[in-house]
Amino acid sequence: MTHKCPHCGRPADDSKANADRPFCSQRCRELDLMSWLDEGYKIPGPTAGDPADAGDDDGHGRLNE
Ligand SMILES: [Zn+2]
Repeated sequence: MTHKCPHCGRPADDSKANADRPFCSQRCRELDLMSWLDEGYKIPGPTAGDPADAGDDDGHGRLNE
């Protein structure tokens, strides 16, 4: 049996003989894994620049002096 390779869409062997299931080849398996990892690195913490904003609020004490 074959199904569509999730990476390239070409027919992939669905039997136990295919060690790279559900992909059609080792190349597709590795490329798909790398694309997942790549996307993970592109998503940083959403509140990376917030500490500066909180520090600004603390400065009013100096002005009152
Ligand atoms: Zn493929």
